[in-house]
Amino acid sequence: MQLKNKTIIVTGASSGIGAAAARVFAAEGANVVIGARRGGLLDQLAGQIDQNNGKAVSLAGDIRDENYAIALVELAKAEFGGLDAAFNNAGILGEIGPVPDMETGNWHDVISTNLTSAFFAAKYQIPAMKERGNGSIVFTSSFVGYTNGGMAGMSAYAASKAGLIGLAKSLASEHGADGIRVNALLPGGTKTAMSGDDPEIHEFIAGLHPLNRLAEPGEIAQAALFLLSDQSSFVTGGAMIADGGVSIQLG
Ligand code: NAD
Repeated sequence: MQLKNKTIIVTGASSGIGAAAARVFAAEGANVVIGARRGGLLDQLAGQIDQNNGKAVSLAGDIRDENYAIALVELAKAEFGGLDAAFNNAGILGEIGPVPDMETGNWHDVISTNLTSAFFAAKYQIPAMKERGNGSIVFTSSFVGYTNGGMAGMSAYAASKAGLIGLAKSLASEHGADGIRVNALLPGGTKTAMSGDDPEIHEFIAGLHPLNRLAEPGEIAQAALFLLSDQSSFVTGGAMIADGGVSIQLG
């Protein structure tokens, strides 16, 4: 029970890494406040967690909306009396292609979904964690935007995910004295809706990884569990790779 009685916000919980993480955190004793856009899927997940004797509440919304970040924190306080940790994980890939061909709207959409949402999340989560006297925040970044080897066609996504690492470092410096740790988690290719279900694409992605496969969402959830629990009590300002070695392959 590594998260016993801790209250944790998990975004992007309607599928993939976020859904797996919500299940793992609840099984480890956390009260989970789950968010994403698809309310039906969130309610289903909350029901499953309840059936397994866990505690979950859900609130559907759009992480590009500052008021949604406020509402998730308020829900954590109203239902469970406060906030201890947050897995700010929701994200999108956006359009793939060279910058001159990219719609400006895509740039704004990817940056606001993946990066500005993280600013909103931290802005309201940190004061709630200060009330507790400690906390742990994790942003889901990516190997894309982190490795020395660049990935053509992924500029908006790479910029947003690299931005999360910078944001985590600044926040960790600002709020270490408050007992609040902030880290970025960098998954490698993971079997979710984002990586699709085309076997040829999976084979290509798998080949970039020395482990020669994609991760299961639950494997990334375990890395998030480490960063959110007291097991990582001296870890802050970090960019933790859980990427099957893709970053060493890409350089
Ligand atoms: P996914 O598509 O299954 O999950 C994305 C989640 O984010 C969904 O719950 C979706 O509803 C939510 N979301 C997207 N836009 C939103 C918005 N505007 N408001 C609220 N919720 C929104 O994919 P996933 O792979 O589980 O992605 C989770 C995170 O992991 C993302 O940040 C992604 O960039 C990152 N990541 C994924 C991979 C991979 O290979 N799958 C690799 C590295 C990093």
